[in-house]
Amino acid sequence: MAVSANYFDGQSAKDHPVTLDMNGTDLLFSGTDVSPTRWSLNGLYPLDPPSPGQPFRLTHVERPGARLILRDEAFIKTLVASSSHLKGGYSWADISHVFGWIIGGLVAVATITYICMALLPDRIAKILPNDWRNRVGRQMETAVVEGARICSTPKGDAALSTMIDNLAQGAPDMPPISVHIYDVPILNAFAVAGGNIIMTRELIEKADAPEEVAGVLAHEIGHVYHLHPEAQLVRLTGMQVLASIFTGSNGGNTTTNAALLATILTYSRSAEAEADAYARETMVKASIDPMGLKVFFEKILKIQGDMKGSSSTFKALGNLFSTHPGTEERIKEITPLPAGQVAVPALTPDEWQALKTICVR
Ligand SMILES: [Zn+2]
Repeated sequence: MAVSANYFDGQSAKDHPVTLDMNGTDLLFSGTDVSPTRWSLNGLYPLDPPSPGQPFRLTHVERPGARLILRDEAFIKTLVASSSHLKGGYSWADISHVFGWIIGGLVAVATITYICMALLPDRIAKILPNDWRNRVGRQMETAVVEGARICSTPKGDAALSTMIDNLAQGAPDMPPISVHIYDVPILNAFAVAGGNIIMTRELIEKADAPEEVAGVLAHEIGHVYHLHPEAQLVRLTGMQVLASIFTGSNGGNTTTNAALLATILTYSRSAEAEADAYARETMVKASIDPMGLKVFFEKILKIQGDMKGSSSTFKALGNLFSTHPGTEERIKEITPLPAGQVAVPALTPDEWQALKTICVR
């Protein structure tokens, strides 16, 4: 059932009359200036859906520029009947219509998730049950310290308790906290979930006055008070959900524990500002000189980047300012006690000595 058709080779605008036939799997055509050509039916696709009374324009995946124009209605019918993929003539509009729902749905889910994650972590953090916060906090602490020794002496522990009590004079609503000093040669301090605060031997040793340690401790208590570790966990869980929507993966184990912990424990500048404000207010109300914190921050700025051998997690976490960013601006915010307010020492000299040597065996 050979029919007449027209062929454009895609190279020139010349219209080549051809004779066209079909066997089971191919279209075969030739003309006076077109050598016998075979186009597989599978590779054909319509430029427009077939429409009665209209020429049917076809091209082929292997000859994208070329065109066959068919006008024989009976032949078109037979061809379309034998190759159902020609029937629909899926246009880009159809495809985008179908995928539009899927893409639109994903964008909607992602947007809602993003909004939730941007606005809600602080609120979700507030309703997390305490036993969850404590359990996760203990897990975080174990992961961060990687088996490092807890520094503890009877007098050192007593001095640490006294320092917390002295700070609590300025913060009657201070949340419950548990402070551990670890024998780690990196200068850092963190609050993890559940009110657990970690400080390092290096931090205690680099401090020249108890007010410096009290300032850092007050800052960490500020993170606990504002539930920053918990909010960060909620936020990152949301990010993970968001990432899995876009990448189709669950994140896998490409992120090491250390890198993940560093991300969890690195706060936004607004969280740092809140923790600093809490520290300043608490110290002033407790009559502990806030300049201790300022002196200590300036000292760390000078020794930043000094990292001795330590666990990989502590290295990933870096020093105090890697996990509590925004240094210079923060230092400027710290001002002395108001004129006339008499400073109370954060610890007596004996207590300070006991705390300074808490890691000494
Ligand atoms: Zn901080």
